[in-house]
Amino acid sequence: MQIYNTLTRSKQEFIPLNAPHVGLYVCGPTVYGDAHLGHARPAITFDLLYRYLTHLGYKVRYVRNITDVGHLEHDADEGEDKIAKKARLEQLEPMEVVQYYTNRYQHDMEALNVLPPSIEPHASGHIIEQIAFVQKILDAGYAYVSEGSVYFDVEKYAKDYHYGKLSGRNIDELYAETRELDGQQEKRHSYDFALWKKASPEHIMHWPSPWSEGFPGWHLECSTMSTKYLGEQFDIHGGGMDLMFPHHEAEIAQSCAALGHDTVRYWMHNNMITIAGKKMGKSYGNFITLEQFFTGKHPLLTKPFSPMTIRFFILMAHYRSTVDFSSEALEAAEKGLERLTETYARLQKLIPAKDSTVDVHGLRERCEEAMADDLNSPIVISHLFDSARAVNTVFDGKGTISQEDLEELKAVWQLFVVGILGLRISDTGGVESGLDAYKGAVDMLLEMRLEAKRLKDWTTSDRIRNRLTELGFTVKDTKDGFEWSL
Ligand code: ZN
Repeated sequence: MQIYNTLTRSKQEFIPLNAPHVGLYVCGPTVYGDAHLGHARPAITFDLLYRYLTHLGYKVRYVRNITDVGHLEHDADEGEDKIAKKARLEQLEPMEVVQYYTNRYQHDMEALNVLPPSIEPHASGHIIEQIAFVQKILDAGYAYVSEGSVYFDVEKYAKDYHYGKLSGRNIDELYAETRELDGQQEKRHSYDFALWKKASPEHIMHWPSPWSEGFPGWHLECSTMSTKYLGEQFDIHGGGMDLMFPHHEAEIAQSCAALGHDTVRYWMHNNMITIAGKKMGKSYGNFITLEQFFTGKHPLLTKPFSPMTIRFFILMAHYRSTVDFSSEALEAAEKGLERLTETYARLQKLIPAKDSTVDVHGLRERCEEAMADDLNSPIVISHLFDSARAVNTVFDGKGTISQEDLEELKAVWQLFVVGILGLRISDTGGVESGLDAYKGAVDMLLEMRLEAKRLKDWTTSDRIRNRLTELGFTVKDTKDGFEWSL
């Protein structure tokens, strides 16, 4: 299998260090808000990789972390920890906030049929290991203590190692890029990043360390937890392209500084998602959470889209291409998925004949070849659509298929559609849409209640509301109608 290694900027044959074992580390979510499309893409990309490696016979240890402390703005070493802020404002224990968003994230991943990783470590559960890692970097001479915080000495490191080898940036560019921020006076250079931060008095998440009561820098957790669970050298490290700098560059520097060598053999990055051609962000007004996609409750969406439509849409593009989301594009993906589902159902109903008049040879090999070429899921999908023609010809009585060919065709569809692409399809046809069905039913009840209210039929209106409340739904009246959650 060939994969594109971001570090060497080339496709390389994948040779595991310790076959049949494969170590895979992927940067997971920061749990201070609901998961959105930006979370869905890496999760689905590396789920595809995980499923495919497993199919090839590897025993994959897949580690995907939960960032729950010390996460500051991507380009800043300062600012209040977002979990701490929410906890303070809502008088919650910080771990309550963490658990709440972790549960929601896992629920969304389950809906997208993303398999759970083998290990899902929390940064907050690895403070001791992170302190030890900082100490190693200090001992090696690539960090310094300043007013209770510890910073990575980028200039010193860059003399001995290649800083910027992943992102292709050089130190002069970093000078120009670094914004002036609080705490800069503590650092030798503006581009030095924090390994340990002394907590300010209002900061509620902090731990004792040899340097201060404080918390670890964001980049540190991945260096620490990847090597803890996968060893000082492991096979694949993945994440979104937006993490390449500074996060992954810093990870490489920390690991080289502490251990004297690179830990990762293949770096893989999925490309980004845009919405109607624009970058996704709260300030653009196009920030759509997965929950909003599933319920259709966002002004940019024409209707709800099932988790399987989202998954299929993401897989229709190669992971290194950008993907542009729009309601129209999703509707097209939905139609494509319906066709695939219909063909799958027809395939189950075909009756074999003595001979085949349709040609289904080579489908398995073509799909394998596409997957082995840097996970080319769109090509796999196009091969499956090609074979759909043979299924429909037989289904319409215009051709025949032998027992042997039919069994092979069914096996290939089962393997690629269900096993590797991970599309949840039931053999009666129809993407499993239990979630959609119950959402549709609740919406319908609440529309009936709205109608009852309009007719001043308070008994019916209250009955619907009370029954839904008893069942665990929260119903809120809004000026345009209603909102509900479970
Ligand atoms: Zn990471």
